[in-house]
Amino acid sequence: MGAGRFAPSPSGELHLGNLRTAILSWLFARSTGRDFQVRVEDLDRTRAGAEEVQLRDLRAIGLTWDGVAERQTDRLAGFDGALERLRSAGLLYECFCTRRDVADAPRAPHAAPGSYPGTCRDLSDTERARRRAERPAALRLRSTTETFTVVDALAGEYAGVVDDFVVRRNDGVPAYNFAVVVDDHLQGIDQVVRGDDLLSSTPRQAYLATLLGAPIPEYAHVPLALNTDGQRLAKRDGAVTLGDLSTPFEVDGARYDAVEPGEVRDVLLASLGLPAGPLEQALDAFDPANLPRAPWIFDFSSTFGDASTGTPPRHA
Ligand SMILES: [Zn+2]
Repeated sequence: MGAGRFAPSPSGELHLGNLRTAILSWLFARSTGRDFQVRVEDLDRTRAGAEEVQLRDLRAIGLTWDGVAERQTDRLAGFDGALERLRSAGLLYECFCTRRDVADAPRAPHAAPGSYPGTCRDLSDTERARRRAERPAALRLRSTTETFTVVDALAGEYAGVVDDFVVRRNDGVPAYNFAVVVDDHLQGIDQVVRGDDLLSSTPRQAYLATLLGAPIPEYAHVPLALNTDGQRLAKRDGAVTLGDLSTPFEVDGARYDAVEPGEVRDVLLASLGLPAGPLEQALDAFDPANLPRAPWIFDFSSTFGDASTGTPPRHA
């Protein structure tokens, strides 16, 4: 039996879009008889206390997981081992480029936008020694392909760019595309459900998995939650976390009553075309083929106001 997972960065509170993706990853895992794990992606961008609040909010909407929530920082030896494997296979090289260098470097006419142009791929030993004195090196993968195709439960076959991407940043922190592959492999994750903003990096990750001798997980990249301006839902959009919603709140001058976590869960389930109630019930109705393929546009007044009568939002 494999496992699915939800892997938040403890950089702040989870918003409704994050909670919705968490529910989806749980539904995908449980509906296929998998374990479900939570991984705290704390290599970078952490805020004190955020992990506890995130886990509390996941429990509050009824999410259950197997074992304890694991932290990336408890697995640093695993990253070192995977780096060593790539290094001994001759698949790493040092890169001294700044972001600016990469953006400004000349490229072949058909190179994918933003892809690394290979500036540091074949530096001489002398040149490398000189550059090391100027700036700590990042480590890049010496990729042997330019594209890789993955299969996604929602997007179908998806071919994407694989360049010489960074596996360890120049501050020594494992890069996201590397860490996620190593973490999933070491945790026995064989199903990855996450926001579709990450679909374009998935070919890189799947290719890296093959280099590390890791199986490629099943993927499902799900549509994101957007605000009414069509931008990705974020903290700036007002009352978008369980914490914000737990007391009466105001959005655009309108007052709203507090919203219980169970009611938030039902709103999220409704946005997925699933019945209100405990997640276990939603599981019976869950079918990936019926999931909405468009982003979820989150609108306060229609979600938490009284849409049935067209009256303004309920007053506290
Ligand atoms: Zn470089």
